[in-house]
Formats: sequence, C-alpha cells, structure tokens
Amino acid sequence: MEPSVSLLGEGIRRLTPTGVACKVGCGAKCKHEQRNFSFEQSVVPKLSSSWVWEKKLLAIARPSDEFFPDNVKYFKRDGIRSIVNLQEPGEHEHCGQVLQDSGFTYSPERLMAEKISFYSYPTKDYGIYSVDQMFDICKVISFAISEGACAVHCHAGLGRTGVVCAAWLIFEMGFTDIEAFNQVRATRPGSIQSRPQIASVSNFFEVLKQLRTWPLKTLSVDELYLRGMKAYNKHEFGKNPLVHPFILVLRKYLSLEMVDEELPRTMSKWIHLERVKEGAWNSIRYLSKVQLDQLLREWLVDLKDPLLPELTNSVKLSDVQLNSAKMVYSILVDLNLSQDDICVLLTRDRAASNNRLCLISSKAS
Ligand SMILES: [Zn+2]
Repeated sequence: MEPSVSLLGEGIRRLTPTGVACKVGCGAKCKHEQRNFSFEQSVVPKLSSSWVWEKKLLAIARPSDEFFPDNVKYFKRDGIRSIVNLQEPGEHEHCGQVLQDSGFTYSPERLMAEKISFYSYPTKDYGIYSVDQMFDICKVISFAISEGACAVHCHAGLGRTGVVCAAWLIFEMGFTDIEAFNQVRATRPGSIQSRPQIASVSNFFEVLKQLRTWPLKTLSVDELYLRGMKAYNKHEFGKNPLVHPFILVLRKYLSLEMVDEELPRTMSKWIHLERVKEGAWNSIRYLSKVQLDQLLREWLVDLKDPLLPELTNSVKLSDVQLNSAKMVYSILVDLNLSQDDICVLLTRDRAASNNRLCLISSKAS
C-alpha cells in the first residue's frame, strides 16, 4: 500500500516556527521524551525505542543525560555500539530534558567514554537529506552494524529517523521503497511524517536502482563501475580496488561459503535472482552456488563488451576490466568451471585460446 501522511498536520507544521511548535506542540510533558514505557512499547524501558531491523537497527527518541546510566545499561545489553544523531544542535529546547552544552539533551562525550561511537548528521525537524547525504549515512550505519547494533535518533525517533531507517533497508537489505515504508511503519508506528520525507525515500530507491543497474548490453564495465561505486560500501574492502562492486560483493559472499548466516524469516520473500538484478546486491549472500553461477554468467553475457576482449592496437584493457576479469576468473575457478568454459565466458569467443586467460590467470587473486 502506498504510504500516506496527515496533510492537515503537515500544513500546520509548515506554517509554525519550530521554537513555537516545540513550546506549544511538545511542552514540558512532551510525549516523546524519556519516561517509563511499558515493555510492549519500548525496547529500552525509559526511552521510546523500536527494533526496525532484526536486533541490528534501533529507532529511538532522543536520549538524555538525566537517564544516562539507565540508557547505557540497556544499550550495552542490546549490543548498541553506535548512535547516529539526526538532530540540529539547539532544537526542541522547550520540551523534555534540558539541553546540554552540546546543544543536545546529552553529551556525546559521555557515550564515547562508554565506547559507543557517535555520528552526527543534522537536518531540521521534519527535514530530508540529499541523495549523497543519504548514501553517506547508510554507509556509516552499515559500518556501525558490522561492529554491533546501531541506534538512530532525531527528536521523537519517527520522522527523520524513519526516513534514514527506510533508506538503510533499501541500501543494505535490498528493500523497495514501499517495502521499506511498510517495514519501518510496522515496527515503529508513526514513522516518516511528511510527503517530502516519503518522496525523498522513493527518490533514493530510484537513484540506487540506476546506480546498481544490470548491464543490459548498453553499458561497459567501466561505465558500470563509475555508477556502482557510488552505491557501494567501500569500508568492506578498505581501499578502492578498481573492480566492479557487483563482483566484489559476489566474491565476498562466495568466500563466506553462505552457510553461517541464517536467512531472516522476514526476508525469504525477497530472495530471488531478479531482485539481485534489480540492485539488491546484498541478497547475494542468500543465494546458492548454483544460483551464483547462473547470476554471474548472465552478468557477463549482458555486458556491452566481453570482459576480456581481443586486444589490438586500438583495444586495450582498462584497469577496471583487468581487475574485474581477474576476480571473475577466481570466482569461476571456485565455482569449479573448466578453463575452457571460463575462457568462453570471459572472451565470448569459442575460438579463443586459453592463452588469452594467461593475461589474468597468472595473477588472479
Ligand atoms: Zn519539542
């Protein structure tokens, strides 16, 4: 179902200065601030909080120093290693707990002293992010989640937080925009609060799909590389290795042998080859070797040019072609393909001799 918002509420918010909105709309007893919540209402007892994805991504209202020991105790219980703050300093000064010198209801230093990383991506209340900012935030969250669980907050943990959580589900888990809205709103009711916020998530989904596009005979591996790197998590490989990121993702999950990770129940309906071809690269982790084999063959066939073309005076291998071909070679070897099959897949030339593989196989990594 298409997501909707209250247009009346959105109109009132647009016309009211934020300081006034906080004084009148929130007040000292702001319902989003810290207090005792019931077990059903909240993961952390005194802080409005909901798991949005598994026990990895937690949407929370803003925490405060007043409840610091309590919060930290539960953050540690739940494996929270990072906090992403989406608030602007000084906002919502009339509601809930008093603002600290940091401009927030808490001091980031106190979190960091407890070995909880702090990241700040301020945008105004009910605000949105540019696509580039959204990529940065998603990559940071993915990095944070590689270290443990991650909590995201704005003021209430609904609007900006909902947007960022939905974007991350699209970026990392391969959700469509509609699936992401549904997941975020089912796990944290009231999330994503304005039409611009909904539009920003849908736009992010569309851009991501374009960047992680399937080759479809129209794009060379170099063109695909330039697009794909933008929508890819570099931290997983440290430096930029000049290999198409789709291949890097494939390599990564093939080395994991795909046995140690259990398929989350909620994801089963998303996992099929077509979804990977639509840009849900990380779903590769749930594919079998037979499916990986099929996927890689199709990708190679759908490239505009063979990954390993016949070299002439006018045709030279680019670094991306060379490095991608080396990695594809190593993957195909791991998938137990014969040298002849590998040669045909890389060169698209039945008559090509295996010698052409020497170009890449000697240094294949
Ligand atoms: Zn307020």
